[in-house]
Amino acid sequence: MINAAIPQHPVRTTDQNFTTLGLSPEILDTVRQIGFEHPTPIQAAVIPIALTGRDVIGLAQTGSGKTAAFALPLAEKLTHGRGVRGLILSPTREIALQTKAFLDLFGANHQLATACVIGGVKMRPQFEALRAKPDIVVATPGRLLDHVQRRTVSLSDIEVLVLDEADHMLDLGFLPQMRDILKLLPRQRQTMMFSATMPDSIEMIARDFMRSPERIDIMPVGGAAEGITHRLYVVKEEDKRNALLALLHQELGSTLVFARRKVDAEWLFHILERQGHPVARIHADQSQSRRVSALKTFREGEHRILVATDIAGRGIDVPGIEHVINFDIPENVDDYVHRSGRTARGAALGIVSTIVTWQDLPMVRKIEEVLGEKVPRCAVAGVEPWEEMEKKAATRGRRRV
Ligand code: AMP
Repeated sequence: MINAAIPQHPVRTTDQNFTTLGLSPEILDTVRQIGFEHPTPIQAAVIPIALTGRDVIGLAQTGSGKTAAFALPLAEKLTHGRGVRGLILSPTREIALQTKAFLDLFGANHQLATACVIGGVKMRPQFEALRAKPDIVVATPGRLLDHVQRRTVSLSDIEVLVLDEADHMLDLGFLPQMRDILKLLPRQRQTMMFSATMPDSIEMIARDFMRSPERIDIMPVGGAAEGITHRLYVVKEEDKRNALLALLHQELGSTLVFARRKVDAEWLFHILERQGHPVARIHADQSQSRRVSALKTFREGEHRILVATDIAGRGIDVPGIEHVINFDIPENVDDYVHRSGRTARGAALGIVSTIVTWQDLPMVRKIEEVLGEKVPRCAVAGVEPWEEMEKKAATRGRRRV
């Protein structure tokens, strides 16, 4: 039976069978019990290679089944009671918790124990989880290093390292911590990285600490998830708020609103709440329990709208998000791809609406380059669209002729 502990989405699968991938009968049983019938493309490509022990760089869109692509080989290789041998690093606490839920399921037949070591929550339960001799640790980097310093965990026996959302784990924010962690790991190990985007500069860093990795790229051309309709709303700065309110009335489904800064997420949350919208918010200034409760109320439909910042919103795996609204355009194209991936998970459809001012248009062009298409300019009721300069210039040009 499909298990409620892991998020379920319709997902595009291959016509291959799990039985051809080299997994043992016990693990195949678990897969069947969970209700996975056919592997997804990333699973079919990664699992046989991962089982040979080779390093892997896996490029796949969010929601394509990558967690099982690394969790199944891990469950296959590790047996209980021989020290912490698997380490999975995640950029956010929420992704770490989701990954642990997968490992608890897939590792059940080997009695594999997974400890989740994330920031923002009390240390004591983590001390206990680490004392209970876990086989796998899923962690966010800062808290992991904290435990290493207190000698409550040792990384000297790690055999498999997985970096989830690797592009983010290796960007400037996390890189110093990542380097500290890498120094503590045995050189002889398998390293697997997964990401929806992998800029060249990051791939160079990644290859530095991998051994001739197999690169598996199953990204659709354009980079973002399929099934998404992109829309652009070019407005004056002072109209952004009204554009958002109008969009929330236009599309009534489950909606994720992204703001760039924590203060803006907080501000938007209060505006929407005052307007009577069922809204929750999630950003890094909140306690972990508040973040968990915001996600829960959003997932369960008590709150139709969730306002999030990039860090907190990354990896949010809530089925059925129909609409992603970028109240602020992301700072880079990768964040746009990641934000967009929160909707249209698996085979579902979704809309990504981006509200911009003229100052954001250079970034819009970069996004369009990656998407390989011009994002349609749209208007929303009651807000006058800002006319783009190039159009005005073209009109003036034509008049002169
Ligand atoms: P992920 O990309 O790992 O976050 O997985 C996305 C979603 O696809 C999750 O809801 C999984 O439960 C689901 N999923 C992953 N692999 C399969 C599969 N082979 N068959 C059906 N559902 C799957």
